[in-house]
Order: sequence, then structure tokens, then C-alpha cells
Amino acid sequence: MKNTTVLISGASIAGPALAYWLTRYGCAVTVVERAPSLRPGGQAVDFKGEAQLSVLRRMGILEEVRRHQTGGTDQDIVDAEGRRLAVLPGEFTGGDVEILRGDLSALLYERTAGRCEYVFGDSITSLTETADGVHVTFERGAPRTFDLVVGADGIHSNVRRLAFGPESDYVRFLGYHYALADLGAGLGTGMYNEPGRMVSLGGPSSPVFFVFASPPIDYDRYDVEAQRRILADAYRGAGWRVPEILTRLPHARELYLDSISRVHIDRYASGRVVLLGDAAYGNTLGGFGTGLAVVGAYVLAGELALAGGDHRAGFRGYEELLRGYAKVTGKGDAGGFLAPATRGRIRMRNWMFQRRFLLTLMLKLTDRFATDIELKDYPSLVAASAAR
Ligand SMILES: Cc1cc2nc3c(=O)[nH]c(=O)nc-3n(C[C@H](O)[C@H](O)[C@H](O)COP(=O)(O)OP(=O)(O)OC[C@H]3O[C@@H](n4cnc5c(N)ncnc54)[C@H](O)[C@@H]3O)c2cc1C
Repeated sequence: MKNTTVLISGASIAGPALAYWLTRYGCAVTVVERAPSLRPGGQAVDFKGEAQLSVLRRMGILEEVRRHQTGGTDQDIVDAEGRRLAVLPGEFTGGDVEILRGDLSALLYERTAGRCEYVFGDSITSLTETADGVHVTFERGAPRTFDLVVGADGIHSNVRRLAFGPESDYVRFLGYHYALADLGAGLGTGMYNEPGRMVSLGGPSSPVFFVFASPPIDYDRYDVEAQRRILADAYRGAGWRVPEILTRLPHARELYLDSISRVHIDRYASGRVVLLGDAAYGNTLGGFGTGLAVVGAYVLAGELALAGGDHRAGFRGYEELLRGYAKVTGKGDAGGFLAPATRGRIRMRNWMFQRRFLLTLMLKLTDRFATDIELKDYPSLVAASAAR
């Protein structure tokens, strides 16, 4: 196989999942992550349907993911007095197997740390492609040259900006922001709506989850204090337990705030640089991000290995398979669903959750999207061609 030195930007889900497969196909992989260490946090993320489960099985982690399994529990949607209005069924949010994002990231990191190089606290500053490689400079580390570079650095991808152009060309803001805050135990459970605002308390191990309508907000994503202020402003005057939640906000152990946005990009590769996961087909809180990242990593590494490392053929194969599978992210607007803009729309959404046939229909639809890919058995195809 040629093109065996690979730099991956981003060590959340897509990056470590790709490192897992590439190292098995004999590549020397470096993963650079901007955060000083593996990022914990996030809510539960889920896998749906046989295609996604079979990739976890082939990675040998399905049982371990199941051991960390969370959720599957129903959640009450309540009014300002805490009275139940409707129930958000666990099966609707939880897929076939659900795990906290931080636990999944740690699991993928553990499975790959001994086989590849992780560099934390650094970020790529430039990418210059030559005939046989990509010359890369970093904020802190010395420049290096790699055969291939992968942007697995999320919806605000740095690699996409450097290799494809500014974020404004590829990311569409959908009119909402969301935040996750670890405010400690004792707040109880329940999901509460006011027009354009939602807050959800998911139990002792889940962060408090906020979704609110807003114009675009200009802030530093690494300035937690600024995010606290934005969140406090967005929920001022809200009812239910929100005043108590706001008093805990200054002491939040972790806080993460971001826009709800969707990526629209007409190609995943540019020369020797390719995008994976949310960087290529992100749709914040769309319910498919993690499954797509893990399947995308399997397909990208597998297509490269099948093509003997020929990046043009490998990237083409990856894009042909993933483009169709990832089309689900072109739809869906989690903000409007979780925090409807008017009282009428909140009532309509709650009414839907009380209709079993509508839920069954929605679950069937998501199952159809989640299984809409024919996966090749890359590991055995590659082993067979190596033995010939
Ligand atoms: C802290 C956190 C919490 C999240 N919480 C949720 C959640 O509650 N619900 C949900 O559905 N999804 C959540 N997500 C998103 C979810 O992980 C993804 O939608 C999905 O798993 C696809 O993952 P990804 O690896 O493509 O992107 P992401 O998970 O977004 O990971 C991108 C990684 O790239 C890193 N990165 C960013 N910029 C740079 C740079 N310049 N250089 C190097 N590395 C960089 C980030 O720090 C991050 O580790 C969260 C992501 C993060 C990072």
C-alpha cells in the first residue's frame, strides 16, 4: 500500500475511528487535537441499524459499547408547574445502542493510543500540497510532511477552512444554539419548553441540555465565560426550574455551547486532503452524526486500502458510498423540533409524541436512513488480496 503516512485533525469520534482502521491496514497515523487532552462531555450519542452495529462489531467494540449503554428511558415533557404534558420515548432518542459521547471517545482513544501518535494541544496552521505529499505547519509543533491529511475536526473544521475555503461557504446556521452544562446532581429530570427555548434535565449522569432560538452569535468558542453569559441571557425570565439552573451556571464543571448548523459541501476531497464526519456531513444534533462518523471512517480506510493506497481512487470510492448514506443530514432541523418557535407548535410536537402510530412511522423512517448503505467487508477483502 502506498500513501501510508496520514495526519488526522480531530480526536473526538471520527478521528480515532479512522486511526483504528488505518493502523490495521499498515498506515503510520498521527492525530492532532486542539484541546489539551481528550475532550470529555456531551450527551448520549446513538447507533441505529445493522450497518452501524456491524461496523462496531468489526471494530470489536460493540460489546464494550453495550456495557457503557445509557438511556432507553422515557422522559417527561412538563409544564411550568412540572406537570406531565407528554412523554418523549427512550426508543425515539436512543437508537439501538446509546453511549455517552465522552465514553465512546475514550473507548476509541484507548483502542488506538498504542498504535498511533496522538498530539494534544496543537492545530494545523497551513497545508501545502506537493506532488507526493502535504507539507503541514502547526501552531506549536515543527513542520512535517504527510502523504495524506484528514479533517475529522468537526462542523467548524479547521482543515476544511484551510483546504476548501471559509466556513461561511459551507456551513449554514439554522437559527438555534445549543448548550450542555454539567451542573451536578439533584436537579431531577424533565424537558420544559417555552416558545423558542427548551431545557432538559436528563438524570444524574447527563449534562443539562439547552436549545434556544437566536440570531447568529459572534463569540470565541474557547471562552467558557462568554458562553455562560450568552446562556444566562438566553434563559432570563424563563419558568419551571430555570431560575435554580441559572444560579448553578457560574459553577458549571463543564460547559459547551455551539450553533445548530448544517454542512453543505459538494466534494469531500481536495487533492491529498479529505474530510470525514461532521467536517464533511455534519448536522448538529441531527441524530446521525456519530453513526455516520464511524461508518465513514470504516469506508474511507477500507476504500483506501482496497485501492492499494491510491488516494484518488480511495477518496472517490469513499465519496460515492458516503454521499448517498449521508444525505439524511441535508434534512432535519433539531432546533425547530426541540424548541418550537410558538406555543401552537409546541402543542403540535407534544401531540405527536402521544400518537403511537406517528412514532412508529418516524422510527421506521430513521431505520431506513440508518441502513441505507451496502457495506463491503474491507478487512477480509484486503487480507485476501494481500495473500495473493
Ligand atoms: C465536547 C463535545 C460534545 C459534544 N456533544 C454532543 C452531544 O451532546 N450530542 C450530539 O449529538 N453530538 C455531540 N457532539 C458532536 C458529536 O461528537 C459529533 O456530531 C459526531 O460524533 C461526529 O464526530 P466528529 O469526530 O466528526 O466531530 P466532533 O465530535 O465535533 O469532533 C471534532 C474534534 O476536532 C477537534 N478540533 C476542532 N478544531 C480543531 C483544530 N483546529 N485542530 C485539531 N482538532 C480540532 C475538536 O476539539 C473535537 O475533538 C459533541 C462534540 C464535542 C467535541
